[in-house]
This record gives sequence, structure tokens and C-alpha cells, in this order.
Amino acid sequence: MNKLSVSDIDFKGKRTLIRVDFNVPLDDALNITDDRRIVASLPTIKKVLGDGGRAILCSHLGRPKGKAVPEMSLKPVAKRLSELLDRKITCAPDCIGDETVKMIEALVDGEAILLENLRYHKEETDNSPVFARQLAAHAELYINDAFGSAHRAHASTEGVTKFIDICAAGFLMEKELKYLGSALAEPQRPFVAVLGGAKISGKIDVIENLFNRVDAILIGGGMAFTFFKAMGMNIGQSLLEDDKIGMAGEIIKKAKSRKIKFLLPADCVVADEITDDARIDTVPADGIRDDMKGVDIGPRTIQLFRDELLIAGTVVWNGPMGVFEIDAFARGTYEIAGILAEATADGAVTIVGGGDSALAVKKCGLEDKLSHISTGGGASLEFLEGKILPGVAALSDAKVVV
Ligand code: AMP
Repeated sequence: MNKLSVSDIDFKGKRTLIRVDFNVPLDDALNITDDRRIVASLPTIKKVLGDGGRAILCSHLGRPKGKAVPEMSLKPVAKRLSELLDRKITCAPDCIGDETVKMIEALVDGEAILLENLRYHKEETDNSPVFARQLAAHAELYINDAFGSAHRAHASTEGVTKFIDICAAGFLMEKELKYLGSALAEPQRPFVAVLGGAKISGKIDVIENLFNRVDAILIGGGMAFTFFKAMGMNIGQSLLEDDKIGMAGEIIKKAKSRKIKFLLPADCVVADEITDDARIDTVPADGIRDDMKGVDIGPRTIQLFRDELLIAGTVVWNGPMGVFEIDAFARGTYEIAGILAEATADGAVTIVGGGDSALAVKKCGLEDKLSHISTGGGASLEFLEGKILPGVAALSDAKVVV
């Protein structure tokens, strides 16, 4: 995954198209409620501007589905970015078109402009070559710093790279590739994967790919119950994927034959319903009553997982251990976040693969205590599945001479 980096390039005098992830949450009054994605993109933007380059920033926001929806305008982002960079950043009226082109042509060295929402044009998600060429015409160099969109072959992540010779990874993208890439390619051992979330079907390709690399897999979340079913256990009303029972049995067999530790929960928190005021109990995994459903891992499981995680050299975590949206069922997920912070302090490389588990780490305030929290849920999952992300594959190789 040796891709050209922004740090390899001198941007002086160059118009540079930077694909960032400014898909920030907005409230009803269109105020940004969390600006972390904007803040995270600053190092790459500052590098280009600091070199005396001309930055043309582009992003999507929400799902306007090919229409200019005013509530999904990037104007509030331009305002926030101006404050953060302490200089005026204008939001162009569109991402293509004469007026926008004129504004780009008027940029001087060290100046930036933000293009309007890419997804106002359906050609963006269609990866239209005509649209990609229009975007590419804005610049001489291209940077992708939006890892969260790199698993989609869209015009701004993939199509555009066909029309610009030099395409580099931004600092954020580079960090994602460094952690996820080296975890898979050259992990410090033991390499332990913690997988949770609702269903086996969402994680099967990750399990298959990790089988070739990990020393242990720890399973929590709703998917554990289909494994229990495959083992002939009673799972009461717990989440079950009927059509995946056979596959679950095969996975257990495969783990055994490859001598990979495959740990399922030893005990579970069970509830009569998934609500705040449910009747709850903690039972051994083989003691789930017919009228109850498993909603979290229990304390014995947390201890069991802790023992594995504290001797790990590398940990990849994807998916919550229970229905963590409800406080009473969140303990397992939060405890795993805490254990990973401890493991990190002891020298392990700990990586959280975006989505719900990343949210859980943030809720615990442990973001800075783990090695890497991926910014892309879908993208990191596809990476862990061993898939090639089109937005990454399209970048220039590190050996390209700039
Ligand atoms: P995923 O997107 O597959 O990672 O799944 C995340 C979802 O799994 C979260 O919304 C959790 O509430 C849900 N989940 C985790 N454990 C369970 C469980 N035991 N039963 C039902 N849903 C669960």
C-alpha cells in the first residue's frame, strides 16, 4: 500500500484538488454540531497552503441525490473552515460550471476555495467520466484525504484520477492506510480480532479474510447467537440468522482445524425486551431461557476477552458487544473499549474499524487512548475484508517522481 503522500510533493504555485470528508452533522438551524471532520482535514490543507499551493476543496454532505438541496450546502463548512484557518474561505456556487471555474482561476498562491456539495450532481455517485473530467480540469494535482468515501468508485474519488497524473494520499488517508495496512500485513503478535455487531452476514468476509492472519477471534454482539445455534444451544428469542447456521458451523470447524482461538461469549446479559426498562438477568451462554434474548456479553466473558486482549500485540475491533444504544446493555462494549486503552498503554497496536465501535470509544472518552480509530466504517470493513478500495487503488504509487 505504498502510495504517494502529500509530504512527497511541493505544491508551490499548483492548483490542487483535495477530496476531503466534510460530511458533518448539522442541526435544524444549519449549525455544525461536530466539526471534528473539518479539524481532521486541516494538516493536509495547511501543507498545501503552506507550500504556496492553491487548494480547491471538494466534499459531499448528506444525500441530496443529484439535486441542489439548500439544507445540504457546504456554506456552513466554509464559514467554520475560515475560522479554523483564520482566513476567508469562499464556498463556490457549484462544484463545476463557469462561475466556479472563474473563481478558481482567480485564486492566488496560498489561497483556498471550497466547492459546493459534489452530490448536487448525480454524476458524482454515477462516476460519470464527463463530470470527473470537469472536476479534474480545476487542478494540476489531486489529493484524496477522504478515507470514509474511498470504498466507493465515485467521480471525485476514482474517476477524477484518470484525468490527473499525480494523485496523492492526504495525511488522514495515509494514517488509515498505515494502521489498517500494517495490521493486516505485518501485525505484532498475537494478533487478535474482536468482532461484534448485529449479524454474521455483515462480517463473514472479514472473518474469512482474518482467518489467514489472526491468532484469535473474539466474538460478541448479536452474531454470537447464530454460532450458539450451530452448536445446538438454546438461544431463546436472541437474534438469529437462520440461513447462516450452516456457515457458522463451518467457521467454527475451520477455526479448529487452523488452530485459531475462536472465543464465543461464556455468559450473556439477557432481557425480555430491548427497552430501557426491560427485565434483565445475567446467565451462562447455555442457560438462555426461551422467553429471553441475549443483549450483551456478561462479566465472565469480559474477563475472558480481557485475558486475550492484554497479551495481544495487535488488536482490530469491529462491532459492538451488545445493544449498546441502551445503557443497560452497553457495559460489554464500553468495557472492551477500556481494555483496549489498557492494552495500548502496554504497547499493543489497537485499531477500531469505524462505525458503532468507534462511536462507543468516543462515548467513553477514550479516543486518544487507542492507536487508531478509523474514520470510515464501510471503508475499513472492506479493507479488513481484503478488498481493494477503488479510491486508494487509484492513487499514484509512492515511486512516482514529482
Ligand atoms: P453492525 O452494524 O453489524 O456492526 O451492528 C451494530 C448493531 O448491532 C448495533 O446497533 C447493536 O445494537 C446491534 N447489536 C449488538 N449486539 C446485539 C444483540 N445481542 N442483539 C441485537 N442487536 C445487537
